[in-house]
Amino acid sequence: MGSNKLVNFRSLSQNVGRFNLRNKKFVIPQMNRIGSHLLAATFRGFGIDAEVMENDKGLDLGMEYTSGKECYPCQITTGNILYYMKKEEERLGESFNPENYIYFMPEADGPCRFGMYNKYQRIVLDSIDKLDRLKIGSLSTDDGYSLSGLIEEEQVRDLRKASYFCVVVADILDRLLWRIRPYEKEPGIADDFIESSMHKMEYAFEKYGSDNEFDKILDDLEDIVREGRTIIDPDISPKPLVGMVGEIYLRTQVHANQDVVRILERYGAEVVNASIAEWVNYTTYDGLRDAKIGFRLSLKQFRLGPMKDHLKKAFSFGAELFYQQSKQKQVYKSVRSLIDLAEDHKVAHLEKILKEQDLFSFDVGTEACLSIPGIIEYAREGYNGVVNVYPFTCMPSTLTSAIVRPLMNKHRLPYLDTPYDSSYQPGREAAIRTFMYQAHQHFKRNGRKKITHTNDQELSG
Ligand code: SF4
Repeated sequence: MGSNKLVNFRSLSQNVGRFNLRNKKFVIPQMNRIGSHLLAATFRGFGIDAEVMENDKGLDLGMEYTSGKECYPCQITTGNILYYMKKEEERLGESFNPENYIYFMPEADGPCRFGMYNKYQRIVLDSIDKLDRLKIGSLSTDDGYSLSGLIEEEQVRDLRKASYFCVVVADILDRLLWRIRPYEKEPGIADDFIESSMHKMEYAFEKYGSDNEFDKILDDLEDIVREGRTIIDPDISPKPLVGMVGEIYLRTQVHANQDVVRILERYGAEVVNASIAEWVNYTTYDGLRDAKIGFRLSLKQFRLGPMKDHLKKAFSFGAELFYQQSKQKQVYKSVRSLIDLAEDHKVAHLEKILKEQDLFSFDVGTEACLSIPGIIEYAREGYNGVVNVYPFTCMPSTLTSAIVRPLMNKHRLPYLDTPYDSSYQPGREAAIRTFMYQAHQHFKRNGRKKITHTNDQELSG
């Protein structure tokens, strides 16, 4: 890849944003593996050529084109898109044209650095021959990740519903893996089973997603869960239950977090990680919350125009949140009738916890709004330990740690911070082992959140 040093700042607004995906290849970064693949399948169901980028080969390029001050997920995704485009150029030769691709990199409206990833990556792409013509497709938390403009307007609503549904289904498959793998009858069968289940679900989303035939997808999901629970060996006793929170990319990307869930399992844990749907619900909830605050303010000042705007936004975010939460509830209800999977926390409930304990405010925003009360909820529900997973120097997660660590000490609940960058810390596994020793002790003293082992007899019932 050649590089010219010129930076075109106009490109930050012209070549980052919502672009029509028709006749383009939509390139999706791999965050949680299952979620990214189901999202790509959902888009394919709407006739968009969508593909998930490989995740484990671009880091060297990412390091080359970053200074080391960026957040780790920014380094990873920068490297991955450069690697992907390099491979495409090698594959296609003369016919390679970066204008045929849209690279997906969403953003948040602050206050942390996630809003800057796509700007930074734009500058990097603009400095490389030809890649200045690769557009970055971005969605923002500002408008609750609106999909308007990506495809024909009449399909936007269906795409939004299908995308949300695939986020929930991907969460369920992840939770199913974490629920069955610690109790599997033979080593490796849970991983193989979930991998093949992901492909089944990709097929289902490609086939049924665009018509929003969610009942058919749910039927297939129920079949998977029924089969998945037969992997559990009923003779293996329940293990200490560990809750996980943290920065969304790091806690869900297994290469980036050096497969921390598997290491915890190696030392005897059953793990429940915070979900992706929780973040999506949070962004909608936050939009509703902002609209309500704006309405109250304009009412006080008696400004009719802004009052009307805020009211309209409040209705739109309110309806969206109602839809998301009821859909999520429906899926969890039918799956939980088959196997005991952890349910998601309701965002309003999490805000209530923060207010009750006067620990933090949703006014500040970021993942800390979910992680801090999420940890408190884990403690209340009878988990045996909590792990906070995040990129080294991540602002919201460092905040979370500062607030929660003294609380956990007070409540004598084992707690572990696991910051990650590209290096392998020699003491990391020893820290996890020590944490798990404490979690086992907690489990012996207090027991754990109730768990129901399903067995073959219940299966036939
Ligand atoms: S959440 Fe943390 S890692 Fe992610 S952008 Fe913000 S500061 Fe960076």
